[in-house]
Amino acid sequence: MKRVLITGAAGFLGSHLCDRFIKEGFYVIAMDNLVTGDLRNIEHLRSNPNFEFIHHDISKHIVIDGELHYILNFASPASPIDYLKIPIQTLKVGSLGTHNCLGLARAKGARILVASTSEVYGDPLVHPQNEEYWGHVNPVGLRGCYDEAKRFQEAITMAYHRHHGVETRIVRIFNTYGPRMRLNDGRVLPAFIGQALRGEDLTVFGDGSQTRSFCYVDDLVEGIYRLLMSDCVEPVNVGNPAEITIGQFAEEIIKLTGTTQKVVYKPLPQDDPKQRQPDIRKAKEVLGWEPKVSRAEGLKITYEYFKNLPEDRLYEETHHRDFKK
Ligand code: UDP
Repeated sequence: MKRVLITGAAGFLGSHLCDRFIKEGFYVIAMDNLVTGDLRNIEHLRSNPNFEFIHHDISKHIVIDGELHYILNFASPASPIDYLKIPIQTLKVGSLGTHNCLGLARAKGARILVASTSEVYGDPLVHPQNEEYWGHVNPVGLRGCYDEAKRFQEAITMAYHRHHGVETRIVRIFNTYGPRMRLNDGRVLPAFIGQALRGEDLTVFGDGSQTRSFCYVDDLVEGIYRLLMSDCVEPVNVGNPAEITIGQFAEEIIKLTGTTQKVVYKPLPQDDPKQRQPDIRKAKEVLGWEPKVSRAEGLKITYEYFKNLPEDRLYEETHHRDFKK
């Protein structure tokens, strides 16, 4: 039985990856420090004999007994609100945490896939963004702690590949949505759906003309699985190219939820990218992958999930458990 370590396993993407690897017949070691993750996302796996959970902060040395064949490094705060609140932990997990994962991969002879992001392109001057574009990032802006941690992560991953011969994979993830996103993480989709469910107005930042391209989580997981099993060392974009303005997106959520609330405009956060759309030619060519779930379908499933959450979760505050350094 192949053994995989998934870091950030109690988070949105990590928990869906746990499900997928259990389904594929792996033994899954799930690791999380629960600063932004939530055990409720993996509760259904806890009694599975092929699943174990380790409460650990990967910024510190990682110990895993026995064999390890794969590592998926998905530990990081990933929403602007989260990484603005815990910028140093964000920098540490992307840098020190990735270093520890790479060291573990080297020691165990495991193949490692690291979760990078479209944020490495910053506020892009090339549209759509292809993997050859080096990006337009403000290192000292408010998003710098996330963007530069992720850029460092890519650099150290390539160094471990070139210098130590570790088998590495890098996925650049574009905006992704689906069940188990934290309703209060500040990202646009849970923000809008949460507001609709609580009977609040929808907060559009700026004039709503900025664009994003949203990928349904199952499509993303499929792309990641294929990339891990491929022999592609260079970074690969995985995302859905269907681009939409945030203003239009708010209208879609209003229609979907049937809310009678309206849109209100708030100031645009610093360094908020004006446009974002993945160029997925490489993923198509190398992985034979493209997204299958339309936004209409994906949003319907996601809305059902949020609608069925217990009432008190709708009102949960954003909180970060202060994990001891
Ligand atoms: N946004 C918004 N209202 C909100 C939350 C976000 O208009 O309540 C905007 C945000 O300014 C950005 C886009 O939605 O332009 C996507 O934001 P998100 O935080 O989901 O992810 P990003 O792609 O910026 O990392």
